[in-house]
Amino acid sequence: MNEERDLLIRNVFPVGDSHDGTTNLDIRITGGIIRDISPQLDAREGETLYDAGGAFVSAGWMDMHVHLREPGYEHKETVRTGCEAAAAGGFTAVACMPNTDPAIHTRDVVEFIKEKSRDLPVDVYPIGAVSRDRAGKAITEMADMKDGGAVAFSDDGDPVWDSRLMRTALEYAAMLDVPVINHEEDLALSRPGHMHEGRVSTRLGLRGSPSIAEEVMIARDILLAELTGGSLHVAHISTRRGVSMVREAKQRGLPVTTEVCPHHFDLTDEEIERSAFDTNYKMHPPLRTADDVEAMIEGLADGTIDAIATDHAPHSVDEKQVEFIYAPNGIIGLETAWPVICRRLLEPGRLTLPQIIGKLTTRPREILRLPVPLIEPGEPANLTLFHTDREWVCSRENLRSRSSNTPYLNQIMKGRALAIYNKGRLVPADTVR
Ligand SMILES: [Zn+2]
Repeated sequence: MNEERDLLIRNVFPVGDSHDGTTNLDIRITGGIIRDISPQLDAREGETLYDAGGAFVSAGWMDMHVHLREPGYEHKETVRTGCEAAAAGGFTAVACMPNTDPAIHTRDVVEFIKEKSRDLPVDVYPIGAVSRDRAGKAITEMADMKDGGAVAFSDDGDPVWDSRLMRTALEYAAMLDVPVINHEEDLALSRPGHMHEGRVSTRLGLRGSPSIAEEVMIARDILLAELTGGSLHVAHISTRRGVSMVREAKQRGLPVTTEVCPHHFDLTDEEIERSAFDTNYKMHPPLRTADDVEAMIEGLADGTIDAIATDHAPHSVDEKQVEFIYAPNGIIGLETAWPVICRRLLEPGRLTLPQIIGKLTTRPREILRLPVPLIEPGEPANLTLFHTDREWVCSRENLRSRSSNTPYLNQIMKGRALAIYNKGRLVPADTVR
């Protein structure tokens, strides 16, 4: 790590709003500020040289949906190990969900997480709970938490199932100009679903969670967003009809945005059968059908789906190595997001590189009302350097997360972050720790 040193990054291809990724340039950074972006800059005395070997560089990526597990579940992940995983995966910022113990339901807990992350190279933005203990009953002090640093509100881990509570939360959200992020699931329809309800669940004899459980909740929340004027962000969308409803809401000018996880545009419920009930294919919303996967990619391509977020959800080996129906939901995602994006979106030409980068940089920050980093002289350097073709093995040894519950474990992945630069520091991915 080069702390606050003057730095010359050599041999990069900037990509983003004002760069198309085809020009080889050097970037000079002094005091954490970008000073110059030009071809073939001469090194100055005292400057550290970093040869990026022809990597791409974009504004620093943000994952707006992660579970850092601290406080309360430090055996799964901590703010520190989660940020190490983020840095290794190319992310300079994360927004973390409130299903901790205690929940992020008071300003104290918001400030605890901000403090924990202060010296880490990744910006951590806590998401406050909508309800006390995420119990779905009493609304939290949203304004106070916002003053403490909360950037959005959600009961994620669980849905805000009470319609009146959701209405009140959106009314406050409108006043505070923050989004409410809902885990869209009607529990009466979904429980005790262990996987997507469909042909595969029938064949396997497992109780399924139907698409309609997600869709009725999205429909309700779009109506409530329209009524209140509060911004609704649909978390981890996974069904074709869900995407259609968000598309229509946007066409009507409603304050509705959404995100998708890499696993939902990569994998289907068939994997559960193929893997003989590997619990690393268990998450909520569940892996759905090939048609839903296609709808996610279409939604990304036409702009209906604003952001790519991982829903990084660490669990220990002990917790996941149980019978499928007893295993907790969720997989880690920070370190595998980029290669999955490369394979499913970039390589087949479904999205262009600048389109993809927008969903990892600009859109998540716009949704959370955060400043968007620019690669321009005079701007603070907040950068992700990455390759689209570099191969690596997703082994326990190579993962920085405290947990390794991923369906990609021990697979060869193509595409990797090379380094991040944030808070005045260059952090090469292979030296994170
Ligand atoms: Zn969720």
